[in-house]
Formats: sequence, structure tokens, C-alpha cells
Amino acid sequence: MRTLQLTVLGSGTSMGVPTLGCHCVVCESADPLDKRTRPSVLLSYSGKNVVIDTTPDFRFQAMRARLDRLDAVIYTHAHADHVLGLDDIRPYNMRQKTAIPIYGAPETLLTLRRQFAYIFDETPTENLLPSVHLHTIDGPFELFGLTIVPVPALHGTQPVLGFRFGKSAYLTDFIRVPDESKKLLLHLDDFILDALRYVPHPMHSNVEQSLELVAELEPRRAWFTHICHDLGHASTNHRLPQGVQLAYDGLQLEVEI
Ligand SMILES: [Zn+2]
Ligand SMILES: [Zn+2]
Ligand SMILES: [Zn+2]
Repeated sequence: MRTLQLTVLGSGTSMGVPTLGCHCVVCESADPLDKRTRPSVLLSYSGKNVVIDTTPDFRFQAMRARLDRLDAVIYTHAHADHVLGLDDIRPYNMRQKTAIPIYGAPETLLTLRRQFAYIFDETPTENLLPSVHLHTIDGPFELFGLTIVPVPALHGTQPVLGFRFGKSAYLTDFIRVPDESKKLLLHLDDFILDALRYVPHPMHSNVEQSLELVAELEPRRAWFTHICHDLGHASTNHRLPQGVQLAYDGLQLEVEI
């Protein structure tokens, strides 16, 4: 059986937990599992490391995970909490002496070109810039011998991509999953999905909606991510049904591919 090691680099919402200036019980919690950096996962297989999204916490997350090499980045969408760490891939460019391939939907790559104009505008500079090769995702693709299946969803009215690899899938920042995409999420061992909080949100699935999706798709295990400070780790897990837990920074799963 071939496996992949999935590490949750960050399990928090866009502002992170603790949230600046907030003194609520979760932000003040002493439980390390209540400390959530911005949302990202690391896939390690065949000696390669691939991250899904480069958050504003990417440097810290990569240090914490002892990430000595980076082989590719896949983007879900171009919101700030998912892309702003891109500049911090430069040490890997230097060490590996190569550009790093980046994969995203056409609209994501277009936004990246705008957000990181200094990387793409080819103005001569003596600064060391990130070196990347852009690859448009227009269907399932192979990455170092692994098939990555994009799973389109809606984040408010904006499109977002989740990804399935073998028997697991990562789907963050969604409010609605079209029926065609649900078919791509059947027979999962591990499903990591957005569940922002209890209160409904126009762009994010909440705990109730994510539990409904889990009940419909029946993965063996489900892990909630993109979590805000409304959800304390221990107290929320206590209320969740069997097989569903909050993800946390540093969570590692061995998944079949
Ligand atoms: Zn987000
Ligand atoms: Zn708080
Ligand atoms: Zn977003």
C-alpha cells in the first residue's frame, strides 16, 4: 500500500487564533491545540514535499514542520490568508537551485500575478525574488506520480478548489459543494473540510453544514479546519459525533494513495 503523510500546517481562520486584540476564552486558552495558524496542509510522498497554499504564517509553519525542501505549491484560491507567504519560498529556490512549480485555477493565477506583480513583471532587480513556474489547473493532474483531483466548490459566489489525493481530500473555504463535486468526495478515509464556527457565514461552511456534508459523504474520518475563536478545541470535540474532530496545527495523517 502506497501512503502519503499529510500534515496540517495551519487549522485557523484568516485572522488566526488567538485573534489580535481578543481576550475571549479560546484566545486566552493555555491549550496548545487552541493555537491556530492560517490554513494549509503539507503532503509528503516519494521524497517530495508539496504544500497546499502559502499562508502569511508559511515561514513559521515550515520551520515548525522542519521542512527542508519544497517541491511544489498548489493553491485553493487567492485570498490573502492562503497566498501571502509566497515570498518565503525563496530559501528553497536558493537551496534547490530551481524554480518551484505552482498550480492553481486560471483566476487564482491571474490574481497572484496582480498581488505579486514584483515577481512577474520582469523589472530588473538585484533583489532575490521567488522563482516559480505557473501551471494552470484544468482537471486532474499528476504531481510526482500522484494524481491530484481538483474539487470545485463555491466560497460565497467565488470559485474555490478543493483537492482529492488517494483516499483523502482537503476542501477549505467553501459554502456550497455542487453535486458533481460531491461525486469526487465519496469513499474517503480522511476528509479535511472547512467549518468556521457555529454561526452561519455567507462564505464559509459552519459546524452544522459541515456535519450535514459529512453525513452525506460518509468519510471514515472527518477533520474540521479554518476554525475561528468561537470553537474551543476540547469543548467542541466533546460535542462532535464519533469520527468527526477538529483538526489542529501539527496533526499528521498517514493516508492511502
Ligand atoms: Zn481562508
Ligand atoms: Zn477570541
Ligand atoms: Zn477564502
